[in-house]
Amino acid sequence: MSQPALQRITVLGSTGSIGKSTLEVIAKHPERYHVYALTAHTSKEALLAQCKVHRPVVAVLDHPADAAWLQQALLASGLSIEVLAGPEALCRVSREVSVDTVMAAIVGAAGLLPALAAAESGKRVLLANKEALVMSGALFMDAVARSGATLLPIDSEHNAIYQCLPLEHRGGLRQHGVRQLLLTASGGPFRGWSAESIATVTPEQACNHPNWSMGRKISVDSATLMNKGLELIEACWLFDATPDQIQVVVHPQSVIHSMVAYDDGSVIAQLGNPDMRTPIAYGLSWPERIDAGVETLDLFQVARLDFEAPDEMRFPCLRLAREAMLMGGAAPAILNAANEVAVDAFLDKRLGFSDIAAVVANVMAEPYDGRADTLEQILAADQWAREHAALIIQQQVA
Ligand code: NAD
Ligand code: MG
Repeated sequence: MSQPALQRITVLGSTGSIGKSTLEVIAKHPERYHVYALTAHTSKEALLAQCKVHRPVVAVLDHPADAAWLQQALLASGLSIEVLAGPEALCRVSREVSVDTVMAAIVGAAGLLPALAAAESGKRVLLANKEALVMSGALFMDAVARSGATLLPIDSEHNAIYQCLPLEHRGGLRQHGVRQLLLTASGGPFRGWSAESIATVTPEQACNHPNWSMGRKISVDSATLMNKGLELIEACWLFDATPDQIQVVVHPQSVIHSMVAYDDGSVIAQLGNPDMRTPIAYGLSWPERIDAGVETLDLFQVARLDFEAPDEMRFPCLRLAREAMLMGGAAPAILNAANEVAVDAFLDKRLGFSDIAAVVANVMAEPYDGRADTLEQILAADQWAREHAALIIQQQVA
């Protein structure tokens, strides 16, 4: 067999949950992958440790003082790695000509510009940062089409759907005999809880997911089902689907990562242990397969698979997200921004768990006069929604 071509990779958000799993997979295959850049927000010690192991060409932190600290610490360790600071540096390491692949694993809207930069410059884009696509769906997909970028979904559900679709599924799902996409959801840690108990949930409880170990923001989103709502919007853009072509299926074991239903009655599913290294390895090696360090699923141990419909009364975020997608324009960006502000306030103990959905609903109910065709319009809608959400939270607390 011939040697695979070496891929040079930028890992945006390398100190996060997805970032760390990505570096684990990369480290197993040094003959295939070289790290070009590693980036973090404020975790400078963690980034220093990663630089010592992975020897990137460039490292990026948000604040210039943190970057200066890292530069000193690297020099003291005898490593000559260029250290940059600030949001523009993230775009620079995404666009860099010698980079083949960009793992977009920054959490939230902060990841939009560097993810878009990777899409615009024709990279293999491994998209974990679903918020970027939720905010800028049309613009992002257009950038991918125009630059010839290869967009591979890392979110486990979308990765599963991608694996269950024909290799060339562009041109519409109906053309390929697809009837429905079945998006599975674990239901989060509060599935089956009463509305009264859900109202008293703490950040510690919300971040303790039964099946997946993830960053704090996505853990809260999984608990409110906003994560599934964001994923519904993400699936619409990735697979050119309408919301009514997507059925959310609660499947508490998180063993089936999603399914595709075809016209002839076939339902094709992708199964595996709930471990993000599988979709990450798929994205890195596509169309080949590599060892991800994940055990084969033990079906005898799993023994049973359960399915139920989501409860949108107790978990209204899923409904809000579907409505935002149907409204179109700036609505998904507004939903996303309001949710980010509300989740932050909840993690800070300034807002109750059930109030997250209430804040998002209130912001979405405000009239907003603006489109989302350009980046400027999207960022303006994001900013507007953040200000309104902050105001509503302040009024609730006062
Ligand atoms: P995380 O909180 O563990 O890590 C986030 C990373 O982004 C860190 O490296 C952090 O330093 C960086 N970051 C945060 N804010 C930043 C900012 N303002 N500027 C620059 N960098 C910043 O998050 P995660 O769980 O790894 O999730 C990352 C993304 O992947 C999210 O969009 C999430 O929805 C998606 N995702 C995660 C999982 C999972 O299992 N963790 C699964 C599917 C999708
Ligand atoms: Mg997911």
